[in-house]
Amino acid sequence: MKGILVIADGLGGRPTDTNGKTCLEAAKTPVIDGLARRGAVGLLDPIGPGIRPGSDTAHLSILGYDPYEIYTGRGVFECLGVDMDVQVGDICFRANFATVEKKDGDLIVVDRRAGRIESGQRDLADALNAISVDVPGVSFEFRASTQHRGALLLRGERLSRHVGENDPHATGTPARPFEALEPGEAAERTAAVLNELTEKSFDALADHPVNVARADAGELPANYVLARGAADCPHIPSIESMYGVRGAVIAGGALYRGVALACGMTPIDVPGATGGLDTDLRAKADAAIRALGEYDYVFVHIKGTDNAGHDQDAEAKRGFIERIDAEFFAPLLERIDAAQTHMAFTGDHTTPIDFGDHTHEPVPVLFAGPNVVPDRVETFDEREAGRGGLGRFSGRVLPMVLGYNNWSPKFGS
Ligand code: ZN
Ligand code: ZN
Repeated sequence: MKGILVIADGLGGRPTDTNGKTCLEAAKTPVIDGLARRGAVGLLDPIGPGIRPGSDTAHLSILGYDPYEIYTGRGVFECLGVDMDVQVGDICFRANFATVEKKDGDLIVVDRRAGRIESGQRDLADALNAISVDVPGVSFEFRASTQHRGALLLRGERLSRHVGENDPHATGTPARPFEALEPGEAAERTAAVLNELTEKSFDALADHPVNVARADAGELPANYVLARGAADCPHIPSIESMYGVRGAVIAGGALYRGVALACGMTPIDVPGATGGLDTDLRAKADAAIRALGEYDYVFVHIKGTDNAGHDQDAEAKRGFIERIDAEFFAPLLERIDAAQTHMAFTGDHTTPIDFGDHTHEPVPVLFAGPNVVPDRVETFDEREAGRGGLGRFSGRVLPMVLGYNNWSPKFGS
């Protein structure tokens, strides 16, 4: 048997998305509807009813973990997601290039994403990593990922994840100083390292050749680093240790790749999988098929739905859902052995167009495969999912896929 879990990030919507219909209801999805016809659907509370999920905590819950027990922050998944070697004691951050302007000694944030920089990030990262910090016994590494995004790792004794962030989450205001969020030397020391490092990041980047070229081209310079989401290394037992099966992850976004790596999956990198609306969905379907030759199950993450939700672009979200149907599920289903495969499709939360961020509502979830008792629902969307045979439940979608494959350990005797 084989297992497939597909998550379309922020898949869920509200009737306010498009004239009384959610984007998923408005989208034409004949292939996914066909899966719903031969399988069973329900409503999934990604973490629990009334809980507004982040993507990282929602994924942990869907993969079978209790995020309230294991989650220490986003940064560690960002670092793992760009293949940094995270060790116990390290403090990890989501970090990104930004554009600031020096005014009366303050660094004023002009663009939190440095004009969504597309090239030269590796050279800028090298310049950052050449900075030396004066706090003794502490080293750091910055690694760039896609566009303005990156990850920052601090290593050394007596560091703490209980520090704030320098991102003001607004433009036209100064970058904030990092502050200790708990009493004691460790948090003070960590904040001091971060303040020194980000201050020096401006000196290291302001006149860098990449930024000189950007200025000549009329682009915003990537001359500062914003960091947030401090986390230390969580203790997460691997899926293999609990179920005895090996899994692979296909994800364009570093955060999702990092969550899956933390759970013991092996990453498969697909050229053209960008983590955006322009991602190559056929290439991901291809890679998933190939991965199933080698692994027991594969987790495929598709990010574009959430991007369109954050951009409050209903047309883009509806269109991208139709592309998932035609360019991902159609070629995938042509090539899997339906009699030997259990599959689940869902979202990690709702990202409605009117709100432009994650909300608490449950998302539709669908299971198909030889051991799934079919229900009477024939289309896959928020409204029909409420009538589905699986009812409404919280998290644990991957354990259910593995359970249909008879791979679950028994609880009790
Ligand atoms: Zn998400
Ligand atoms: Zn989101």
